[in-house]
Amino acid sequence: MTALPPNSGMPTTRGLNFFDADPNLFHALRAYAAPGDVERALPHLRELGRIAGSELDELAARADANPPVLRNFDEHGNRVDEIVYDPAFVRMQEIGFSEFGFAAMSHREGVLGWPSRIPHVIKYALSYLFVQGEFGLFCPISMTDSAARVIDQFGPDELRQRYLPGLTSTTFSSLLQSAQLLTERTGGSDVGANECVAREENGQWLLTGEKWFCSNVGADIHLTLARPVGAVAGTKGLGMFLVPKTLADGSRNRYTVRRLKEKLGSKSMPTGEYEFHDAVGYSVGDISRGFAQMTEMINVSRLSNGMRAAALMRRSLLEAVTHARGRSAFGKALVDLPLMREQLFEMTLDAESALSIVLYAARTLDDADSGSEFHEKVIRIVTPLIKYAVCRRARTVAGMSMNIRGGNGYIEEWVNARLVRDAHLGSIWEGSENVVALDVARAATRNRAHDALFRDLESRLDTLTDPEVLRISQPVRLRLMEVASRFEALLSGDADLRDARMTAMCDRLAALTCTVLLLGEADAEARAGLGYRKLLIANEYRKRYLDLVDPLDLGDEGITFLDEVLDGGRVPAAAVAGW
Ligand SMILES: Cc1cc2nc3c(=O)[nH]c(=O)nc-3n(C[C@H](O)[C@H](O)[C@H](O)COP(=O)(O)OP(=O)(O)OC[C@H]3O[C@@H](n4cnc5c(N)ncnc54)[C@H](O)[C@@H]3O)c2cc1C
Repeated sequence: MTALPPNSGMPTTRGLNFFDADPNLFHALRAYAAPGDVERALPHLRELGRIAGSELDELAARADANPPVLRNFDEHGNRVDEIVYDPAFVRMQEIGFSEFGFAAMSHREGVLGWPSRIPHVIKYALSYLFVQGEFGLFCPISMTDSAARVIDQFGPDELRQRYLPGLTSTTFSSLLQSAQLLTERTGGSDVGANECVAREENGQWLLTGEKWFCSNVGADIHLTLARPVGAVAGTKGLGMFLVPKTLADGSRNRYTVRRLKEKLGSKSMPTGEYEFHDAVGYSVGDISRGFAQMTEMINVSRLSNGMRAAALMRRSLLEAVTHARGRSAFGKALVDLPLMREQLFEMTLDAESALSIVLYAARTLDDADSGSEFHEKVIRIVTPLIKYAVCRRARTVAGMSMNIRGGNGYIEEWVNARLVRDAHLGSIWEGSENVVALDVARAATRNRAHDALFRDLESRLDTLTDPEVLRISQPVRLRLMEVASRFEALLSGDADLRDARMTAMCDRLAALTCTVLLLGEADAEARAGLGYRKLLIANEYRKRYLDLVDPLDLGDEGITFLDEVLDGGRVPAAAVAGW
């Protein structure tokens, strides 16, 4: 029998450095990070890119195929509700929590040798690389990170001192992880319908009820919502509680884990159901503002979900490009077939615009955290916008990538099926698609957050200087005014119609925001003498998503310059066809 040659025209991304393979990440990051931070982050980005394409990718495949199991009882029949992980997942936890310190970056100085706390924009760029290797673990990482933020902001000193050192530890043995429990059988979107109650007894809060979804089962602490006895109905009556796994005397807290969910994806990380039986909970912050405080955690998680969706798109694109370049059909490399080139170009527009809006949001969060009320407003509206638009698009891009790998794309030995499954989750948890689209409207009606966003976009257009970029940007200004006035009209019109049109409005708003951001990056690249690659991306994105040009009227710019686009090469100004 003749042995097949290695790879047999079935190219793989395994072993690639995901940072080096993505010239856009470096340039995009420079547009949003503070001067000097990208250079400081460079060795870590490169190292993470190497790990993501090798060890992490292998571990992720193993952990996905061997999901955690729940062991309810020990050999003596004692209730333990312990999670047994595949060693691959434990190793990934070490990489994520300890070696890179993702959950600690925003809270401690000195992580990765950084002289201060690592800015969100750098954390997101690093996370973007990590998630290209492993998606599931980033939920526990993000919940631990955001729990530390919430406890720091709202928690009493006692809880701060007891839990923050563990939540932000980069030493694996002393790490404490967090989970976030909102969803009950009565509703995930309608959290105000929650039935879990809290009663105060001898100065201690005791929680009774169930939680229908809990990711990172087995966490050391849980931030949850429960209604103090006698409190009003709806979200206003919910208090926030920290439910620890272990009580101060070392005994188990009084809750049980009923079962783990059989999930479509994100299988490496356990999601299950909880029952509280007079579980001890420590009140966090103002007991009458539990839901408002929880939204702080939810918003950071929503942003993290947008970052993860952008990472899934980038990985999907990399898989598709690697396959198309290494496999042939009809006597040609797939990548040289015009229709394939068009698809790869379109996926690149999706992946790069998603990264731009995610890094923009991360930088905005840095500015908001520094006390800027203006940026607080911008991040308030951009967060649900990203959660809606980027997560939605990731499903399509992951599906396109599966299709491009052909039959192998449907086979579990390849990463595509996992990417498709994970991409769907982003649009469901932490607020499903409709719910986050409606939250964009809420941010506008309650905070007039859209005014800040439109103002920010306008001032970004004002800073453009390159003549070619200016040429393309002039009509975008008119679009900005048009989108702003349609948004305002929708808000002030009939409420039912506003809600019914909100996803369409978010599509338009996301397209406008991404177009302006891409133009800003294009301007910086042109001024740095790097040519007009990014302007080509901005302009083709603008045509397809903002101006909704009939696809039959599109030109051949994408298929002509695909290689320059993929490899970060130079594109001449003449390639960027005008209006
Ligand atoms: C794998 C996984 C892990 C999870 N982990 C956690 C966790 O750790 N902690 C946690 O608290 N939850 C968790 N969840 C739950 C998740 O957040 C909820 O499932 C989600 O918020 C939706 O809630 P629901 O399932 O009750 O759906 P519903 O609220 O019943 O929504 C059903 C549909 O109705 C739509 N809808 C709702 N309101 C409106 C409206 N006003 N207008 C139009 N459409 C609307 C929604 O968009 C959705 O499409 C997890 C879910 C999954 C799948």
